[in-house]
Amino acid sequence: MQAAIDEALEGLNEGGVPIGAVLVENGRIIGRGRNRRVQDSDQLMHAEIDCLHNSRLTGGYHNTTLYSTLMPCYLCAGAVVQFGIKKVVVGEEMSAPAARDFMLSHGIEVVNLDIAQCREMMGEYISNNRELWNGFLAELNPDLLKPSDSPISIRHHFLPGDVGYITYLHAALHALPQGWDHTFDSYVAIPLAQFALRSSPQERIWIAERNGQIVGCVAIVKFSDEEAQMRWLILHPELRDKGYGRRLVEEALEFSLKAGYSSVFLWTVSILPAAAGLYRSMGFEEKERLTHVMWGKEVTEVKYEWVAKKG
Ligand SMILES: [Zn+2]
Repeated sequence: MQAAIDEALEGLNEGGVPIGAVLVENGRIIGRGRNRRVQDSDQLMHAEIDCLHNSRLTGGYHNTTLYSTLMPCYLCAGAVVQFGIKKVVVGEEMSAPAARDFMLSHGIEVVNLDIAQCREMMGEYISNNRELWNGFLAELNPDLLKPSDSPISIRHHFLPGDVGYITYLHAALHALPQGWDHTFDSYVAIPLAQFALRSSPQERIWIAERNGQIVGCVAIVKFSDEEAQMRWLILHPELRDKGYGRRLVEEALEFSLKAGYSSVFLWTVSILPAAAGLYRSMGFEEKERLTHVMWGKEVTEVKYEWVAKKG
């Protein structure tokens, strides 16, 4: 991914849109490119297309992975589908309309590393070149620019694949950006899988979906008759800062009261300040801090507790 970011920065130096891409085959970079919309006045010269254009293939595309600093648009996703590239790894997906679901629907593995540097690079470019950027957007199919108003639905039962997918979301959104190792998956998956086997009126999971895809989760897990643990709170970046996190936590606390708990605790990590802000704004108080080596890194875990008001 660093090579793709380097391409994006190179493009920025040339006065272009900072999007870079590389094609990797068996761990080796066999092609690289960057967006040349500005440099070449060519609206078809996206980073991914430039990269494929420059790639020296040994065989077909079937063993290749495409890295891009930005989630591919329909043009580039079409090329990915057309040539049978099996995996796409991206730095972010917030800055421009993208064709993630289109690729998923064609069986392509799509991994979003959600790298702050990639988001900031594009954010800065767009705010510094607002008019130019709006001009680029005006070239697009206007349907792509409509806000996604697909409703979010919540369910409380497990379906096949949920344990794996919720674990995957945690890994993609937390472990990969933090450089934690695969043991983090076990930390999420083992208790979640055990939870999925139980059925108790004192426990509940909220699985939020949009267009049939899980985009958020939280659960209330029984610790004792008096005390519940809130676990597995996760929200897709698309849903952040829109009140969905608060709604999930509110519903979980409401349920906890009805289930007879007098307090709810949770463990989070110190590097998630947005989550901590949400917990504190909802009446959680910090109780404990533990710094230790786990998931291959030194991690500071923070315990928060919420106590039900009497009467
Ligand atoms: Zn594109």
